[in-house]
Amino acid sequence: MLIRMAVLLGFVLTASAAEPPNVIIIFTDDQGYGDVGVYGAAKFRTPHLDRMARQGARFTSFYVAAPVCTPSRAALLTGSHPVRVGLGRRVLFPYSNTGLHPDEITLAELLKEQGYATAIVGKWHLGHHRKFLPTRQGFDSYFGIPYSNDMGNHWYSRENFMSPPTPILRDERLIEQQPDQNLLTRRYTEEALRFIRGNKDRPFFLYLAHSMPHWPLAASARFAGRSELGIYGDAIEEIDWSAGEIFKALEELGIDRRTLVIFSSDNGASLRPWQRRGYRPGSNGPLRAGKNTTWEGGMRVPGIMRWPGKIPEGLVQDELATAMDILPTVARLAGARPPRDRILDGKDIWPLMSGQDGAKTPHEAFYYYRDERLQAVRSGPWKLHVYRPEWKDSAGNREPLLFHLGNDIGERNDVAAGYPGVVERLQALAERAREDLGDAATGRNGANVRPVGTL
Ligand code: MG
Repeated sequence: MLIRMAVLLGFVLTASAAEPPNVIIIFTDDQGYGDVGVYGAAKFRTPHLDRMARQGARFTSFYVAAPVCTPSRAALLTGSHPVRVGLGRRVLFPYSNTGLHPDEITLAELLKEQGYATAIVGKWHLGHHRKFLPTRQGFDSYFGIPYSNDMGNHWYSRENFMSPPTPILRDERLIEQQPDQNLLTRRYTEEALRFIRGNKDRPFFLYLAHSMPHWPLAASARFAGRSELGIYGDAIEEIDWSAGEIFKALEELGIDRRTLVIFSSDNGASLRPWQRRGYRPGSNGPLRAGKNTTWEGGMRVPGIMRWPGKIPEGLVQDELATAMDILPTVARLAGARPPRDRILDGKDIWPLMSGQDGAKTPHEAFYYYRDERLQAVRSGPWKLHVYRPEWKDSAGNREPLLFHLGNDIGERNDVAAGYPGVVERLQALAERAREDLGDAATGRNGANVRPVGTL
């Protein structure tokens, strides 16, 4: 008891009295659960990310809030469910006139108020019109492509819209079009390093949102042709190099021990269209399916967190955590107060990150939405699919599917018939989400959704 008190007290002191940490989030695009060495990747190498995991914590049940880019990123930066902030449907396109609502409070805004220097390098995808740009959402600076790297010079027939060439923005200015994508990862890395070096003496927040390994895939000459998996593996090896350069810089600048680095991906690896495009696809490891789906492969992603001296080395954390949890967790570490005038879905997961004895996930339920349809709910090891898009096209059985993810991570054996009590409990949780967030699959409006930003 005494020891536990002392540990608790020590924890509270270190978390509040210590200097606020620098925060770096490295967020890749469409990198699957099995696409890092420590998560099982075999056809390319990620030595720096593997070392990052050895020196910190690796989450095995880390989820993004959506299986596609825009809603996943909205959730990361607001700590709120994407449906709640009005961005739960598909992704934004160059013809879109919506974006993250200017009244939403991002992690960058919270940290800026605490005196942090803030920067985003890479993909934004929360609205490319000026009023939605990162510089209007708490970031001091921006360099990157405001949406996906395949959206330039593209004919959108349904909208009768020809998109402009792929833009590169600096802050709010268009500085380049159709960049050589082979150089993107390198250029993002150079920008990131410049920001880190320029702000080494004050707390900073860097959101490095790589465009890779989203297609069209590319890597610089040093990496192209290097991996056994072709250009997909090459692109990830370059991302790994980039992470290595960042760790090297932190070390050289003497700020390694006051910097929290988080690595994750915005959704699972895309599997289906790849053969058509002539690429070999990435991997979601043992998980079923991938991007665009609410099977585990769409939304369970790598989650690695490193903060020397604060996050124990070699921690493997099996408790459920989500990208939405990063905002409230980081806010507290930085001494900031998350907004209290609105619902946040993220929870403080510092007990999980710091490996506190017996720490449990703060989430009673995790909801898998796609296009504002509630498709599945997870609670503990159980996952219930309440709506499958493929049910629309078949006259077959539409009873919910129940999987025990602890025994059946690949969602192969539906055990609903054997566990009616579990089905009932998860149905009740699903119903709670429908009331709160709504559900397009059952025609429900949510009581607690906030508006999307409009022009
Ligand atoms: Mg993506």
